[in-house]
Amino acid sequence: MENKECHILSLSGGKDSTALALLIKEKYPEIHEQIEYVFFDTECELEETYDYLNKLEVFLEKPIKRMKPYKSFDYLYSMYKFLPSIRFRWCTMHMKTETFRKYMNNKIKEGYSKINLYIGIRADEPERIENYQSKNLETEDGTLKTRYLLAEEGFCQKDVYNLLDSTGIGYPKYYDWRSRSGCYFCFFQRKMEWVGLLERHPELFEKALQYEKNAGKNFTWCQDMSLEELKKPETVAKIKQRHQEKLSKVKETDKKLIDIFSDCDSDNSCLFCHT
Ligand code: SF4
Repeated sequence: MENKECHILSLSGGKDSTALALLIKEKYPEIHEQIEYVFFDTECELEETYDYLNKLEVFLEKPIKRMKPYKSFDYLYSMYKFLPSIRFRWCTMHMKTETFRKYMNNKIKEGYSKINLYIGIRADEPERIENYQSKNLETEDGTLKTRYLLAEEGFCQKDVYNLLDSTGIGYPKYYDWRSRSGCYFCFFQRKMEWVGLLERHPELFEKALQYEKNAGKNFTWCQDMSLEELKKPETVAKIKQRHQEKLSKVKETDKKLIDIFSDCDSDNSCLFCHT
């Protein structure tokens, strides 16, 4: 095998992986020169994500490779006949992980004996690093090596915000109403985020609702409520009220708006979608 080394950063379209890419460009120019920025596209992403990636390409002065899944969500859904969920995340498995693994295998076939994979986990998320390490992404022969430069550099949430603000790239537009990148129907969404989808992208909300209806009455995207129920004006009003209550508390602690939704367990979130 040739002694070739490559560097890969999988971008999610979220703030942390974006900050990592910008950090690499600023502090590690030798890596930036060689690195491949890759986006594993599920083809079910929000247009705001694509817009942000386009903007990031300008800041990075490098292209971001867009990798399509081998099987579309519609095809997979017709096979499984039920919605993906936290318990059986077939969406991630096929639409992200499978594409990622094939991408890595192709690198090995191309003669790369060392692949450095950069992951946007911060210093204030040590449990996520442990979680990623437990997934055995690294190969025993050392071909695949994961690197956590944000964590190594001591980057916490506020440092990510500072970097995105100071470079001028700012945040993806979906942060106005949602805390995470990923598919428009992602089941990690909070109810207020579903309301955001209903109001900002009603056609996507309807699409998600149709998937849910076709899946039968035992399957819903939210754990305790159908989207048909959620979109009722009285339900929307209740969800908004609860959100406002939460918002007033968050303001007191002077947190960023985009943190308001993110009180779910990040350990359980998608390996590729939410960094
Ligand atoms: S963003 Fe959500 S729905 Fe999409 S692949 Fe990841 S976990 Fe699945």
